[in-house]
Amino acid sequence: MRKTTAPTKKASATTKKAAPAKKAARTATKAPAKKATPTKTTTKKAAPAEVTPAKPPRNESRTALVRRARRINRELAEIYPYAHPELDFENSFQLVIATVLSAQTTDLRVNQTTPTLFAKYPTPEDLAAANPEEVEEILRPTGFFRAKTKSVIGLSKALRDDFGGEVPGRLEDLVKLPGVGRKTAFVVLGNAFGRPGITVDTHFQRLVRRWQWTDEKEPDKIEAAVGALFPKSDWTDLSHHVIWHGRRICHARKPACGACPIAPLCPAYGEGETDPEKARKLLKYEKGGFPGQRLKPPQAYLDAGGIPAPPLGAPASSASSADSG
Ligand code: SF4
Repeated sequence: MRKTTAPTKKASATTKKAAPAKKAARTATKAPAKKATPTKTTTKKAAPAEVTPAKPPRNESRTALVRRARRINRELAEIYPYAHPELDFENSFQLVIATVLSAQTTDLRVNQTTPTLFAKYPTPEDLAAANPEEVEEILRPTGFFRAKTKSVIGLSKALRDDFGGEVPGRLEDLVKLPGVGRKTAFVVLGNAFGRPGITVDTHFQRLVRRWQWTDEKEPDKIEAAVGALFPKSDWTDLSHHVIWHGRRICHARKPACGACPIAPLCPAYGEGETDPEKARKLLKYEKGGFPGQRLKPPQAYLDAGGIPAPPLGAPASSASSADSG
């Protein structure tokens, strides 16, 4: 908390990490320097013009694609060294429930709701035996609360009856649980069991297409295509990096290209705002100096100046609720 003043609104993504920031700064200052006495306007305009988007890699060889993809991931690892799942959880049961609840809402809203749920129903047995109306009341803020109540009670019954009250650590078992698809299963495997998994959510799909890592449209095919570009051991962190970048900088409607540290590597540079100042205003969460989504984020995030999310009922920052979760 002490460091929370660090990422003020002006603290762009480019301030945290030396390597990409330097790169951006280098390219951003070259042109105006050539033109004598750069005025305010020339500086602003020159910066994005200096970013040379990566060539659209239409005929890119397989080796070049693998190299480019891994380089982007390495840069993202420097930009988000503290990347983590953005759902609060203390064990695999809490994680699987929170992931199911995160459908159609933000992680923030789930994190604001689950403390009450888990305080009242700490185990699968407790939730399996719960009164649905009471659970509905707790889950109301997450939207679709009746369907979600059914899912989490059903899931808890399956855990109690078929898995001895434990969350299974195998993909084939997890996907048999009510409300659990491959995406949820990989979140659980990767973050509660340390088994590598790629999480293909809406951000992941959008970004890997922008980077031309794959043309596939279906999540399963995207997962296979992207998975083949990286060693298995990278999969979980890769998922965090890509999703974090999608939530903070490379937004669906207005990507903040002008404040994006990987702009020089991106074939889609220019799809969003290229003016650095305007782009900086689009940054979200810790990159824009706003609270994150977790009420209890990991220490590394706090050490990097991250701010915990506010509890339910407290005024939410626009950055926390914007974009899909
Ligand atoms: S913000 Fe722009 S430059 Fe950065 S990854 Fe997204 S599209 Fe590419």
